[in-house]
Amino acid sequence: MKTNSKSEVTEFVNCNLCNSSSTRKLMAIGGFNIVKCKNCGLAYVNPRLKERKLHEIYDKKYFSNKAFNGAKTSFYGYGKYLEEEDCIKDTFRRRLKIINKLSGKGRLLDIGCAFGFFLELARDDGWDVQGLEISEYAYSYAKNVLKLPVMNKTLEKAKLKSDSFDVVTIFDVIEHLPDPKATLKEIRRVLKPNGFVVITTPNIGSMTAKILWKNWEEVRRVREHIYFFSKSTLKKILESLGFEVLRTESAGRYFSVKMAVERGKLYNKAIFILVGKISDSLGLSDKRIYVDPRYKMTMYARKIK
Ligand SMILES: [Zn+2]
Repeated sequence: MKTNSKSEVTEFVNCNLCNSSSTRKLMAIGGFNIVKCKNCGLAYVNPRLKERKLHEIYDKKYFSNKAFNGAKTSFYGYGKYLEEEDCIKDTFRRRLKIINKLSGKGRLLDIGCAFGFFLELARDDGWDVQGLEISEYAYSYAKNVLKLPVMNKTLEKAKLKSDSFDVVTIFDVIEHLPDPKATLKEIRRVLKPNGFVVITTPNIGSMTAKILWKNWEEVRRVREHIYFFSKSTLKKILESLGFEVLRTESAGRYFSVKMAVERGKLYNKAIFILVGKISDSLGLSDKRIYVDPRYKMTMYARKIK
């Protein structure tokens, strides 16, 4: 039974980008408020759960959350992460192709590598890889099943060598971090001069986010997502730390038709139950498709002197 009062588990924080405490409320959702900094425009959850509490959710249940498909307002995690392996790998293959165009092969660090699917592809493609994952459950799979060099640590605690990586990838992670600015600073330290960081994160400035608003899957993940970047705020934070932003693009992902239907039910249950029945009857459920609702972005930035 939980006996903690709300103030023992939550904390107020200043803006991570500009340190201002002046905000306006964007929305109340799932028992939390998402606010926007009046000074720089960064959107974030405030007050929020303390770091220890934030970490608690990344257990086995996070990756096979039974409550996921019945979600009404807020939710977290994945329905069946491991069953999505083929689609996740298709998505990562596409990202790796772009990274290969940007950089010669060398050392690559993936922060929040989960089960290690991206690292496995990169290793098989000739990269010298390293992974970090705070979920012990996912980390064990990457280490013991895929035999990848991973650490069950945050970047700050990993104490990696300075100027040692050609590329750092951080996919769908930065919005979960208690101090994204500190993590980006640490990424800059471990990157070689002219090395790249590749960040994928939800884009609260996207048209899709503005239309869906409180119904948007990414803000409904308010228990795990505590920062909501736009192209402008992410660029500002990177530039303030000594990165040059090279390009930003919309980031979609592969889904099986079956999985896309499950995600669709988060928005409109009745319609997607019907779509599911139709795709089942046509034998299309296992077909893999690239879906880009244009509400996530990938930003590529280079470490400059
Ligand atoms: Zn600010």
